[in-house]
Amino acid sequence: MGGEPYYGPDFGLLQRQDPELAQVLLDELERVRGGIQLIASENFTSPAVLAALGSTLTNKYAEGYPGRRYYGGCEVVDRAERLAIERARTLFGAEHANVQPHSGASANLAAYAALLQPGDTMLAMALPHGGHLTHGSKVNFSGRWFDVVSYGVRRDTELIDYDEVRDLALRHQPKLIVCGATAYPRLIDFSVFRGIADEVGAWLMADVAHPIGLMAGGAIPSAVPYADVVTFTTHKALRGPRGGAILCTEELAGKIDRAVFPFIQGGPLMHVVAAKAVAFAEAMRPEFADYTRQVVANARALTEALAGQGMRPVSGGTDTHLALIDLRDLNVSGAEAERRCAAAGITLNRNVIPYDPEPPSITSGIRVGTPCVTTQGMGPQELKEVGTLVTRAVRHPAGAGEVRERVSALLAIHQPYLSEY
Ligand SMILES: *Cc1c(COP(=O)(O)O)cnc(C)c1O
Repeated sequence: MGGEPYYGPDFGLLQRQDPELAQVLLDELERVRGGIQLIASENFTSPAVLAALGSTLTNKYAEGYPGRRYYGGCEVVDRAERLAIERARTLFGAEHANVQPHSGASANLAAYAALLQPGDTMLAMALPHGGHLTHGSKVNFSGRWFDVVSYGVRRDTELIDYDEVRDLALRHQPKLIVCGATAYPRLIDFSVFRGIADEVGAWLMADVAHPIGLMAGGAIPSAVPYADVVTFTTHKALRGPRGGAILCTEELAGKIDRAVFPFIQGGPLMHVVAAKAVAFAEAMRPEFADYTRQVVANARALTEALAGQGMRPVSGGTDTHLALIDLRDLNVSGAEAERRCAAAGITLNRNVIPYDPEPPSITSGIRVGTPCVTTQGMGPQELKEVGTLVTRAVRHPAGAGEVRERVSALLAIHQPYLSEY
């Protein structure tokens, strides 16, 4: 055929060859651009990250690690993984990085496999208080294979009860203490966790899947200097491809690497590893530091606007990119609020709040986050208005149409995947 070599995604080609599937991609882009995305765990990757994801690196089998593969022909993809590892180590100041975990859950499985035997005791945050499924829920491998002791937040302050963490650690002598959460709006004091782990001789793992992006940009303090192992996802505030990664001390490097491969995974997703390298480089730029500070300022503006209109933030506010809102005073469930916001063009998720009387399918709360809207270029002024729109959508479902019009007006100025960035 001759001509230019094919380097990456060609949407026109997909449309010609598989219009049915191409339409799904178009409809999803339209869905995302047609509403305000407040899901705290989502973001919009850059076109450069998408280009790496859509590359021919997806074809390569590369079981093993750079320079030590079980397949031939890995010398080129080795360079992508070495770049990802070096960039992660530099970005986070870590002694060792493993960039192969397929997801945050896989990263946690590998970390547990490196540090624990089935039946060992671990201490982690309870799911209903903001912890993650992989922190010991009964419906997850973590709850089935380990003896899990859970800590939570205080009823009065809704902040992590560090005295309870220490008491439980002294009483149960866990081999591993896990800190980090999926719905906790405040800073976590990693130095206190380090002290407790040292006191009882436990490993300390920080699962910072959510806030690692803010740590990369310096908007909040990093967990890396305190934890033996840090697990995270690359697709939340960090704005990279969907995937996981692990940072650890030199002491644990071999154990962590063997736990990822060959213990829990086979071949790495080399196109995703390459996209992680792109995202780590993007996160080193000064613009990304500005972005993370803006994410936090926006979350504060949104939370204050909500609080000012009777939407009570759990713990009284936020230090991060997300807030949890307690809807009990409004007599609206989290599930109903999620539906009402969807009808008004605002995407968010219902979420249990600490000591929630409702089950997880209903809940008494919603979770909101600002990584997406900040990537779209919104600032605190816009987030104040978004707070008003969320409140109106939740309180007055009959006025959804008017809220939708304001949403469209905001989106007309701030659209993702329209202008270059
Ligand atoms: C999102 C998240 C995970 C899991 O990430 P997946 O990529 O969805 O598997 C793990 N831990 C915490 C705290 C999270 O917030």
